[in-house]
Amino acid sequence: MVDKIVDLRSDTVTKPTDEMRREMKKAEVGDDVFKEDPTVSKLENKAAEIFDKEAGLFVSSGTQGNLISLLTHAQSGEEVILGRDSHIFNYEVGGFARLGGLSARPIKEEKGRLPLEKLIENIKGSDIHFPEQSLVCLENTHNGHGGVPVSGDYIEKIGQICMQKDLKLHIDGARIFNASVYLEEDVSNLCEPADSIQFCLSKGLSAPIGSIIVGSRDFISRARKNRKIVGGGMRQVGVIAATGLISLDKMIDRLKKDHEKANRLAEGLKDLGFEINPNKFKTNIVYLSLDQMNYSTNEFLGLLKEKGIKALSHEDKIRFVTHREVSKEDINYCLEAIDNLIH
Ligand SMILES: *Cc1c(COP(=O)(O)O)cnc(C)c1O
Repeated sequence: MVDKIVDLRSDTVTKPTDEMRREMKKAEVGDDVFKEDPTVSKLENKAAEIFDKEAGLFVSSGTQGNLISLLTHAQSGEEVILGRDSHIFNYEVGGFARLGGLSARPIKEEKGRLPLEKLIENIKGSDIHFPEQSLVCLENTHNGHGGVPVSGDYIEKIGQICMQKDLKLHIDGARIFNASVYLEEDVSNLCEPADSIQFCLSKGLSAPIGSIIVGSRDFISRARKNRKIVGGGMRQVGVIAATGLISLDKMIDRLKKDHEKANRLAEGLKDLGFEINPNKFKTNIVYLSLDQMNYSTNEFLGLLKEKGIKALSHEDKIRFVTHREVSKEDINYCLEAIDNLIH
């Protein structure tokens, strides 16, 4: 056993900062179901301002934010177009189908993007055989595709197609600020064509809990009702929203450091002889394929764990996610440990 723990399972493991703890204590609160929590309102308004949308809604998680967005854009029986490798399609327990009565038309992404011609092919029109289609979902950064940031130019093109075809556009922006920091583009520009965006406060931005949906005033007021339906109406939740305000004020610019650490990890793995292209991993997620190794992913994870290194498997790969609580020294420690394992 080792004393050292380097937790690279996810950026969700980040704990609230000391400043967040202090702000929790000071937060002014009220009953947010009655819209009387000033700290929640402040956070929602601030998020809306940053994205240049009319309104925001504080929700308990990214999964809840996506579910509420889909329930608000689409009626039971309608179809959602999304990525085959997307989080909404794969990792949200099929909530849109079970709770929203929605079906999905998955499209295989390339580098985190729905290929434009594939998207157009999959917009079906009003033939009697097809369900009505109501929206398209993008993911940015795209988790399953190595945290790849999706550019504003591309989103603009998707937005134009959606506009022409009368479809809504939702962005699962769990890590949208990782994209904006990498692309050096404001989220307001990046997400301009989207009708709604969900982003997580509880990942690299280090808040303990919470996500926000932003969109038009009308959309958010309908989403508020759907939040109540899924049991997401919370009361004196300003104690949590206070941490989100710190996330938005202080935790965005530093995401760059997480990207540098991920890059260092990917470069180091390449130097150790793994077949990995560090240029593929632009933000804070790195996937390592064990193709040329004699270990299964589970065996490899077990060996890492003996060294105090935690990671997750994703299909036939190992996923590492960097964040505030992993230092450059920790990354060096991991590389040394892996070096010892394989040589
Ligand atoms: C983490 C994540 C979510 C879900 O967020 P939770 O807060 O864990 O429910 C949604 N989409 C993507 C791309 C994610 O990485």
